[in-house]
Amino acid sequence: MTNRVSITKVASGDVEGAVRKAVELTGGFDQLIGSGSRGLIKPNQCKPSPRHSGCMTDGDVVEAVTRLVLECEPASVVIGDGAIAGYDFAGFSTQESFDSSGVTDVAHRLGVELRNLNTDAFEEVTVPNSLVMDTVRIARTALESDVIISIPVLKTHIRTHATLALKNMKGVMPGAEKRKSHRLGLDMAIVDLCAVVRPHYAVIDATVGMEGLWQAPQDSVDMGLIVAGSDALYVDVVGAALMGIDPSQIMHFHYLGEREGKRVELDAVEMVGERLEDHRKVFTTGFDVFQSRYPEVSIVQGESACSGCTNELVSAITYMKQAGYGDQMTGLTVVIGNVDDAGTKDRVVALGKCAADLPGASSYVPGCPPKEAEMVRAIAEVCGADPDAVMATMAEARKKLWDASSDLLER
Ligand code: SF4
Repeated sequence: MTNRVSITKVASGDVEGAVRKAVELTGGFDQLIGSGSRGLIKPNQCKPSPRHSGCMTDGDVVEAVTRLVLECEPASVVIGDGAIAGYDFAGFSTQESFDSSGVTDVAHRLGVELRNLNTDAFEEVTVPNSLVMDTVRIARTALESDVIISIPVLKTHIRTHATLALKNMKGVMPGAEKRKSHRLGLDMAIVDLCAVVRPHYAVIDATVGMEGLWQAPQDSVDMGLIVAGSDALYVDVVGAALMGIDPSQIMHFHYLGEREGKRVELDAVEMVGERLEDHRKVFTTGFDVFQSRYPEVSIVQGESACSGCTNELVSAITYMKQAGYGDQMTGLTVVIGNVDDAGTKDRVVALGKCAADLPGASSYVPGCPPKEAEMVRAIAEVCGADPDAVMATMAEARKKLWDASSDLLER
């Protein structure tokens, strides 16, 4: 694993050429894949979507990576993923995702097995030095692979700001496990997951990216790039920066960097190929869109604000509204990160240790990140809402979701 990350340009539609060059610039696959290797190629096949919309890894990129892997003559290769819900149903199945991205055709063309990881056998694995998940269920295909190549698409995410090669590994968690990771705190769950199944190489399909809340085609962003490297953390740092997102604001980068003794900053990366500055575009994040839907709430973010706090805030505001307290949030100010002064406002909730010293806050929620329930209670109390009613609404909504699919989830 090195800190070298390449960016290459897709010239005249030659995706394979760009992938080949990107991988070569980082030293190729020869050291990584031997004749006895069992390889898992893990694209992001989250939900059936139109090709080239930026929602899923496209078949052209999967094909190029798979060809390079096959050239190393490994013992076996599987292309595998499981759709985002963790289980399959009509209109939202893994197979439909494979079909719509072109990956099914790729697998047939190259004679490689395509595997739905939502229906794979799984094993419960202990997470070493866990943050939030002591154990996690993982698709056996991933556990039995010697080499995992994560191929995400360049995309924003409402809770984690960016969803790239590390978060892409969620696809190896079957059924309810995916939801558990959201409930426990998505950023930290990703770090726990990567303690068990850290990808050995990452290639970002940045041919077309996706911003906002993934409305196609209006949220598709043409980029025409491939990003690659052997350390998925550094590849993700570059991916985030290409979207105009400060990598330090992504909590799972932080935690993983701390764990592995790495700085999650661009100057810690050895960049090769295209210059990042020549291609950076500022994507609208999912949280930006969320925020615009709640103009009654003022969210002030300091420089140190990260996805750990914004992630939990999404739930708190959503369930306040669902509990019928939307109007009561008018005039509420929520502060995240190191803000010196939130101005003279009546109802200010300061979130997390970064905002601990905010002067004049009506309420402070400790933690890094703060606990979801404590955040909900603080916001409800400051708004004069009944915290128990909001918590009950949240529990009810989650139970409904659970009941609707429990037969499928209890695998
Ligand atoms: S307190 Fe919140 S904003 Fe600060 S680092 Fe922790 S999670 Fe991020």
